Amino acid sequence: MRNKNKFPYFYNQAKIKIWLAKVKYVITPIVIIFIIGVFVSLGKISALNLDDFQVLRYKLLPEANTESALREKAQLWLELGRDGRLGLAYDLSRDPKTVSDADRENYIKKNKKNNDSISLQLQLRQATIDQTIVENNSSFGFVKFKYDKSSFFTKWKYNNSHWYYTVEQTFCSRLKPYPKPPEFERALSLVLQRQLNYEGSLVDLSSLNCLDIQYSDLSTVGAEGVFHFAESFSSPERLLIQVDHSYRNYDDLLTASLLAHELTHMTQFIDEYYNGKSITCFEAEEKAFRDQISFLTKLNEEERSSLINRVTTNETQGTPLNSSLQQIRHLYDLMVDANVRCGDGSEILGCLDANIEEMVRSSPYYQEQCRAN
Ligand SMILES: [Zn+2]
Repeated sequence: MRNKNKFPYFYNQAKIKIWLAKVKYVITPIVIIFIIGVFVSLGKISALNLDDFQVLRYKLLPEANTESALREKAQLWLELGRDGRLGLAYDLSRDPKTVSDADRENYIKKNKKNNDSISLQLQLRQATIDQTIVENNSSFGFVKFKYDKSSFFTKWKYNNSHWYYTVEQTFCSRLKPYPKPPEFERALSLVLQRQLNYEGSLVDLSSLNCLDIQYSDLSTVGAEGVFHFAESFSSPERLLIQVDHSYRNYDDLLTASLLAHELTHMTQFIDEYYNGKSITCFEAEEKAFRDQISFLTKLNEEERSSLINRVTTNETQGTPLNSSLQQIRHLYDLMVDANVRCGDGSEILGCLDANIEEMVRSSPYYQEQCRAN
């Protein structure tokens, strides 16, 4: 039995050896391929980009409601945008509950370096973080970016222990408007409503929380309303319009007409401060009067006749017009004159501009004011 079994035993051993020798040629390449595969994927993982890892970390771990935490996140967002990793930048900065795949695609498409308009991400590529603001007991924060001569805030919301990007840009980092007399609120609302109904707002609506309108004694300066360009009065955080006390006795239409003018100056201040765009004092006044006239043309029938009736009634009774009505009357006269001389075609605007220019440049008040500036 033993002898009988011995042969098969040796036979099997030999068979196994042969088999192993054969299999070696198959297994070795498989093992080598496997090892190479592991190294390649490890390589990929290490290049898995710290960015992916960072974004994942932000998604998983809670963030603090502090300025430094917001700054850190905004910095990563900035760097991802700079590297063209727009998808990741989007994932990092948006509240996953409020976004869709289509929004993400749009964001990437819009911010790719191929369109004419300067998109936010294009601006951000050259930007640095200047300041981070987190207000106490509020769920909002602001990151101020600077590039070239300009700067802007981005607004972020703290929600579920994460900072999320909200609106694209704002020039004002106040969360609440300045308290103002209710008549100013009403007049401001009328101006904005009419502008929005027609051509979109001329005023940067994101600045409105920084707009402060107060009564002041302007009789000594001989003005009815003033927007202060001087930095001792105005700053991006407080855009101050002063209105003479005489307006306490006027109605909302007159106040709105004045605000339509002063709001243009506010926009000019913002443009200069943030975008480095400056225009001459005369040009600034001409534009402000153009916007004031544009507001007057948007009044409805009843509002317009209310103004015209007041002018004609006072004039027929020989009562002097108050300074606001005088100015409105003068602006209507400029329109009528342009209309009479140039018809109602496209030339009328050119004629009106020439009339406004003439009015501003020949005014002793503006000559003095613009010399002083
Ligand atoms: Zn002015």
